[in-house]
Amino acid sequence: MLAMVLEVVGRPLVAREVPVPRPGAGQVLIRVGACGVCRTDLHLIDGELPRPKLPLIPGHQIAGVIAGAGEGAGRFQPGDRVGVGWLGFTCGVCRFCRSGRENLCDRGLFTGYTIDGGYAEYAVADERYCFRLPVGYSDLEAAPLLCAGLIGYRAYRLAGEGAERIGIYGFGAAAHLITQVAVHQQRRVFAFTRPGDAEAQAFARRLGAVWAGGSEELPPEELDAAIIFAPVGSLVPAALRATAKGGVVVAGGIHMSDIPSFPYRLLWEERSLRSVANLTRRDGEEFLEIAPRVPVKTTVEAFPLREANEALERLRKGKIEGAVVVEAPPEAEPPSTVDSRQSRAPARLG
Ligand SMILES: [Zn+2]
Ligand SMILES: [Zn+2]
Repeated sequence: MLAMVLEVVGRPLVAREVPVPRPGAGQVLIRVGACGVCRTDLHLIDGELPRPKLPLIPGHQIAGVIAGAGEGAGRFQPGDRVGVGWLGFTCGVCRFCRSGRENLCDRGLFTGYTIDGGYAEYAVADERYCFRLPVGYSDLEAAPLLCAGLIGYRAYRLAGEGAERIGIYGFGAAAHLITQVAVHQQRRVFAFTRPGDAEAQAFARRLGAVWAGGSEELPPEELDAAIIFAPVGSLVPAALRATAKGGVVVAGGIHMSDIPSFPYRLLWEERSLRSVANLTRRDGEEFLEIAPRVPVKTTVEAFPLREANEALERLRKGKIEGAVVVEAPPEAEPPSTVDSRQSRAPARLG
């Protein structure tokens, strides 16, 4: 199969013909339809995340269909449409897993980071961390739901149910999805973009933001909560400054440039600052249940899988409406490794 592989940190991905992976015990084989491209992939390639698996197939927003199953995997049938996100495995026994915080698991594995992901024609995944995709979304439309949507939703949830006025800093893939959920739930969204980015501001207004402006501006009203999706540390004091007493500022990214020092009075009056790490399966199930009811519409810019480097550069430059997605070629042959397993597990492989 074709895979786009990170062989050396700091270098572009390389197109390789590699064997179709075999699903191990409890795993499924997924024929990838589309895989979202996330800023985290850029952080990985740039060496800003420690110890990635190498060589690595990145990509943690996989939408596709079940094409096979390993021993003991019976949750899905061949042809079922599934999605895989960032959370690839948790241990189930550490103190974090046992207290409903599997996103913080000591032994967690992450798709497209510490295990291979979806920049390929096929991927394997632990079936317990696969989500059923909501009907009505094509693979291209569903892919951004799986990180931009899921982690965006966790950040949104942590902004608090009582937050009526929500500021969103960085109006990219996550913001364009979460704004729709927030508007649907009668919140008011204030969108902050790069200064002077009139197109992104217009996009935010079209999605229902009541106000859109540059990140250095103060909104016309104080915010009850702010979510920062852009990896820019100077947005932390900017968001605190825009937030009312008792408000929360949530940093939604995995990496951020250094936060400049700021006067204590910006945090004073019970403002709080927190980050979001990873997601739990509950976040995923909740968001994928809410998305079709809103309904959350995804705006995507698609690239062929082979052009993953171009897709990543497009995201880096930041002039995107919505999300970037790579699309696997449709004409792939059925994988031979599945056929060889078929005799051992006929019931699941049909
Ligand atoms: Zn992501
Ligand atoms: Zn654990």
